[in-house]
Amino acid sequence: MLIEPRRIELREEPAPPPPAGGIVVRVRAALTDGTDLKTYRRGHPKMPMPTRFGHEFCGDVAAAGEGVTGLAPGDPVMCVHTAPCGQCFWCRHAQEELCEDLIPAMILGAYSDLIAVPSRIVDRNCFAKPEHVSYAEGAFLEPLACVVHSLRLLAPAQGSTVAVVGNGGFGILHALFLARRGVTALLFGRRPERLALARELGIETVDTRVAPIADAILERTHDRGADAAIECTGAVEMWEAMPSLVRRGGRVSFFAGLPAQARVSFLASRLHYDEVQLLAPFHFTPADVREAFDLIAARALPLARLLSHVYPLDRIADAFTQLDAGVGLKVLIEP
Ligand SMILES: [Zn+2]
Repeated sequence: MLIEPRRIELREEPAPPPPAGGIVVRVRAALTDGTDLKTYRRGHPKMPMPTRFGHEFCGDVAAAGEGVTGLAPGDPVMCVHTAPCGQCFWCRHAQEELCEDLIPAMILGAYSDLIAVPSRIVDRNCFAKPEHVSYAEGAFLEPLACVVHSLRLLAPAQGSTVAVVGNGGFGILHALFLARRGVTALLFGRRPERLALARELGIETVDTRVAPIADAILERTHDRGADAAIECTGAVEMWEAMPSLVRRGGRVSFFAGLPAQARVSFLASRLHYDEVQLLAPFHFTPADVREAFDLIAARALPLARLLSHVYPLDRIADAFTQLDAGVGLKVLIEP
């Protein structure tokens, strides 16, 4: 439980009963991510505290509810923490990522021994984990679905050059997936150990403490600017700089969110005269989760390389103290 900012407590609770049509998962691996760290530091409007905590997980079916077919206790599963309702205006208009019941019905509590997964998620966003995929890799289903959705919206052309700003887990995942799609990714960041990891994974990196982002992009694009740029830092100043990084006719994707009341500004002429397009992908659809599952099952990306540390569940508070101090990338929590 996250009790208040920077205070995590472990609580003993009775095992949850399996929901009708749903399952209870015994968590074998959970991951930390940037949203968890932001929530840890300042809370989250959609997660009033005290709250269950953690949303990326993978494990085994501990119990199956009435009406569940195809999954039995002991089966390894990969699921995400949401599923669209299938009935609301947005679901009926092929924008399931905006489903009005998506966030209200999300499940939290990946940092626990057991988590109940309702029928809607079991039906639409849950998969049997292949044997050759580790639990830790399986727990990447949710973050990878976000990246799949992000690039579905951006739709970068093969051979184009895309600047990825921010070298956290999502920045590196974007760069890896872009490269797989035949796109030249340039990753910008200022954490030396993360830039070094990205280079080991074959990604071209630029240290923003050394070179201004705009100069480095112009140098590599015949002074035109990038074909597209993806914001993965969640900083207002960076959001405001993004439209200046792409070429005329380029596209900007604001992947990392800002606080709900944040305002940003940039030159209007970049939009009107230069036809720069602005996008802001949110969450994912079941089709994105399916594609992320296929990528993981095919072991298409070196996901395990993003794991910087492993902690047992009873040291979850230490894991976040360390992340808060700027150490680590994605931490694997093993109950
Ligand atoms: Zn809906």
